[in-house]
Parts: sequence; C-alpha cells; structure tokens
Amino acid sequence: MGGTFDPIHHAHLLIAEEIRRRFELPRVIFMPSGKPPHKTDAEITSAEDRYVMVQLATADNQHFYVSRMEIEREGPSYTIDTIRTLRSRMGEGAEVYFVTGADAILEILTWHEPDAIIEEARVVAVPRPGFDLRELKETLGPRRASKVTVIDAPPADISSTNIRERVAIGTSIRYLVPPPVIDYIRKRGLYRSDNGSGSRGPTC
Ligand code: NAP
Repeated sequence: MGGTFDPIHHAHLLIAEEIRRRFELPRVIFMPSGKPPHKTDAEITSAEDRYVMVQLATADNQHFYVSRMEIEREGPSYTIDTIRTLRSRMGEGAEVYFVTGADAILEILTWHEPDAIIEEARVVAVPRPGFDLRELKETLGPRRASKVTVIDAPPADISSTNIRERVAIGTSIRYLVPPPVIDYIRKRGLYRSDNGSGSRGPTC
C-alpha cells in the first residue's frame, strides 16, 4: 500500500482491508514514501510524522504492517526499488501487489522503470469517485492497462488534501481520520495554517 499518507485516513484503511479480503492476502504493508520523487520537501510533512500516523492508524489490525523501507532508503522513493527489495526478501514465488491511487497510476509512465513495475508487481489502482477509466486506458495503452487491476472507489470520498485544508481552517476531521491520528496532528501542530502558533488545529 504505497502512498505519501499526509495524513493517512479512513479511506486508505477501508481500501487496505478490502484488498486484503478480496485478494486473500496474508498481510498488507503500508509503505509511506520517504522522498516522493515528484514532491519537494516543502510540500509534505516529515517522513517521521507521516510514518507515526500510519502506525497509529493501523495498530489495531493484526494483518497490517508499516514499513520504514522507503523512509530509510537514500534518494528518491522509486517504487521499482521497493518492489524488488520486497520480492528478494520474500523469496521466489512470492507475489507483491502494489496498491495506490488511480490518479497516481495515471502518471506511472513518468516514473522510474514503469514497465518493470507492471511486470514485477500486480498493480492495483484505486479510483476516486468519478474517475474516468478511459483516461487510464488511453494513457497507459491497452497492453499496460490490461495488467493494471482497477477496484471500485471506496464508499467515502476522503482525501488527504481535504483533511489538510480542514485542519488549516480549524474544521473537524472527526470520522475522517482515526482518533489517535487526530490527537497526533493536534499535539504536533501539523497542517495548521499559521505553522503551529495559535490556530485552533483540528477539532473533534
Ligand atoms: P499522490 O500524487 O499524493 O496521490 C495521487 C492520488 O492517489 C490522490 O488522490 C491520493 O489520495 C491517492 N492515493 C495515494 N496513495 C493511495 C493509496 N495507498 N490508496 C488509495 N489512494 C491513494 O501520490 P503519492 O501518494 O505521492 O504516490 C502514490 C504512490 O506512488 C507512492 O507509493 C509513491 O511512492 C509512488 N510513486 C512512485 C514514483 C516513482 O517510482 N518514480 C513516482 C510517484 C509516485 P490521498 O492524498 O487521499 O492519499
């Protein structure tokens, strides 16, 4: 389960559980990006804060694990490096699924070794409600698109962007984000429009 997770929210958790059930996976590994290749440091919260939030959100599910692999690896977080490391650690025959947003997969041709990603992992794209599947097919072309599994959009259209915006203006994020993550955001003063000096932070 690859993502920036800035912050993790209930739709990510719903998707992970649905994918685990649907594909009968023994475990789901959440893989917060260390240095997303397409984002600057100024655009995202520190990797440590994002990692802790993912840990807090997933702690009550025995099938969910959180990896520091991309956080600790030097340089940009290329997905192909992660897939290859996971495959070599898990041994021959292990199948790796790479699950992320369909909007991200739409950009996959700009990533490092996109064809290797599609060949070496089963890529699962999660659309937002209203996502145009034709765009994905047109962008990837029929051969690559046929190898990408698209699952249904989660029932709630929750996004990290919207959560950050809500916190910045002091609007509640209750029911969008697990309570321990809300507490962490508040304590650390994350996403506040004044950078932590006086705004209300998330309300419950
Ligand atoms: P993003 O551009 O921040 O997100 C694009 C869309 O996908 C957003 O709507 C986002 O919603 C959604 N999304 C992200 N992760 C998701 C997940 N696990 N499940 C469902 N929806 C998800 O994309 P990103 O998070 O930075 O990157 C996504 C993945 O692609 C990461 O694993 C990243 O490392 C990888 N990536 C690799 C390369 C490369 O190898 N060169 C380049 C770019 C990205 P939310 O904001 O609500 O999550």
